[in-house]
Parts: sequence; structure tokens; C-alpha cells
Amino acid sequence: MTKFDIETVRAMQEAGMVVSVQFGGGFCRPTHVNLTPEQVVTYLEEGLDYVLRLQGIEPAEYEDWQASDGRALCMETLKGGNLCSNQVASQCDLPTRKKMHRNEYCRRHSGG
Ligand SMILES: [Zn+2]
Repeated sequence: MTKFDIETVRAMQEAGMVVSVQFGGGFCRPTHVNLTPEQVVTYLEEGLDYVLRLQGIEPAEYEDWQASDGRALCMETLKGGNLCSNQVASQCDLPTRKKMHRNEYCRRHSGG
């Protein structure tokens, strides 16, 4: 059982009080997610991870993205076996970084 009162949350939303959770931001535009009363109660119990999963985002992938400041890095493997540390894009939102990180070559390794 939850200690939160779904009826109260429902009444609040019927009165026009929308619950919106914000995440990300800092280096790019934050994402806002509006929650239904049921989602509000689950969010209060489980925290941000729940809202991330609603968006199809794994918490680990979210943390990795935040720690990177939205930087996507080159996919080239160097002679020593390390990956190239050159940046291919910066301040990316999460879907963009997911698409580009270690999936594109930096200027030095693309063609030329
Ligand atoms: Zn590179």
C-alpha cells in the first residue's frame, strides 16, 4: 500500500494543477514530463528512475550522459587500443548523444 493519496492527486489535477517533472538540463534544454495521478504516486515512491524509464531511458545511461556534459566522442580505436578522445559533438541532448557517441569519426579520423 502507498502512503500517498491518489484521490487528492486526482482532485488537484482536475483543478488544473499539472505535475511536471524536469530532468537533464545544465548543458542542454531540460526535458519536462507531465504525469498522470497514478504516475505521480509511483514517482513519489520510486523517484526519478521511474520517470526516466517512462521515457525509455535507463538510469545508468542517464547518469553516463549527465557525467559526459552531453559530449559525444569519436569511435576510432587508436594503435594502443584506446578509443580516440576527440569530441564529435557537444552539449547534445540524450537521444542525440546516444546516436553519435562512439558512432562517428572526429575530424581527424573522418576521411582526410
Ligand atoms: Zn578520432
